[in-house]
Amino acid sequence: MFQRYEDHDDGLRAQFQSPGERSALRRAGRSNPRCLPCPTCGRPDRLTPADRAHGYQCDECADRDEGRSFGMDG
Ligand SMILES: [Zn+2]
Repeated sequence: MFQRYEDHDDGLRAQFQSPGERSALRRAGRSNPRCLPCPTCGRPDRLTPADRAHGYQCDECADRDEGRSFGMDG
């Protein structure tokens, strides 16, 4: 797979995430724009239609659910 994303920086960012940032979200692209709000925090433009179809929430909410918040619970 040697697709070029130079004209679409959403795709570029999704493809080259920093190692600590493990995301379940689908890669955004021309046919899958990141245009939907997160169902949990309500922030706009967090999810793609594919994300929503899988019932995902945004990275920040997913991180919180995974217990990566700082000292709030546990
Ligand atoms: Zn969210």
